[in-house]
Amino acid sequence: MTARIIDGKAIAAAVRTRLAERVAGLSFQPGLAVVLVGHDPASAIYVRSKDRAANAAGIAAQTIRLPADTAEADLIACVTGLNNDPLVDGILVQMPLPPHIRTQAVIAAIDPAKDVDGFHPMNVGRLADGHPFLVPCTPLGVMRLLAEADVSTAGARALVLGRSPIVGRPMAALLLAADATVTVAHSRTRDLAVECRRAEILIAAVGRPEMVKGDWIGTDAVIIDVGINRTADGKLVGDVAFAECLPHAGAITPVPGGVGPMTIACLLENTVTAALARRSL
Ligand code: NDP
Repeated sequence: MTARIIDGKAIAAAVRTRLAERVAGLSFQPGLAVVLVGHDPASAIYVRSKDRAANAAGIAAQTIRLPADTAEADLIACVTGLNNDPLVDGILVQMPLPPHIRTQAVIAAIDPAKDVDGFHPMNVGRLADGHPFLVPCTPLGVMRLLAEADVSTAGARALVLGRSPIVGRPMAALLLAADATVTVAHSRTRDLAVECRRAEILIAAVGRPEMVKGDWIGTDAVIIDVGINRTADGKLVGDVAFAECLPHAGAITPVPGGVGPMTIACLLENTVTAALARRSL
């Protein structure tokens, strides 16, 4: 048997179409502001795709570009201005920030009601507490993929490989909220292959090209590969050795075309969630 491929590109397109229909039915236009500091080429590409996707969904998107030497206080003043702007429902400050700016200070300055990245301590706390409001887009995208692919999480043994605040930790919290039995593995975990083999749902978010091998996969496990790694010859690969895992897994996401497209779709979804909540709708 070979695994079913979970087509994140198609699922994300469907999520975005549904969202555009919802937005078209609203009596107001949700607004998203993206702040980009400096000239990191990868960040510039992400920001352009977010802007395009938002506008295509009927969300009024604006990008604020600030020079790389912007002072932390000036960036916080910009965020405060967006907090107070009634036309802005969602604020995203593109990471990474230049090293002279404290990322946590900037995140803390964002109004939690407009924090569409879900990184503000208030939103992190809500998720940890089991009452999520705005949650990080990549793990939210994974949950949407699982739902659209009809993967049942209740009671399932789920392993989250990675414990970063952006992916691993919120991923584990979301799976727990969805009644999975969750294990979190990281660089200090012993017998990683054994832990992986026990999992019925395996979410890989380590940033190590093709680290998860075929013989780490339990029979018919669902494998979600969050990793995006570029190899020496310029190829994009995930954290999972895709070809090796195909014969063992029940379902698997490709890289590219798996989790990646869901992240932007969920950013748009978070913007609409924030817009409706701000208007108590
Ligand atoms: P981080 O580097 O912040 O975290 C990596 C995690 O993996 C850490 O918890 C680390 O453990 C763990 N880890 C690293 N090496 C090993 C190892 N050899 N064995 C076990 N665990 C290990 O990465 P992110 O969470 O930000 O991103 C993970 C991957 O997801 C990257 O490839 C990134 O590009 C991708 N990504 C994709 C997105 C998308 O839209 N699809 C969005 C965000 C990220 P420890 O804590 O002990 O150091």
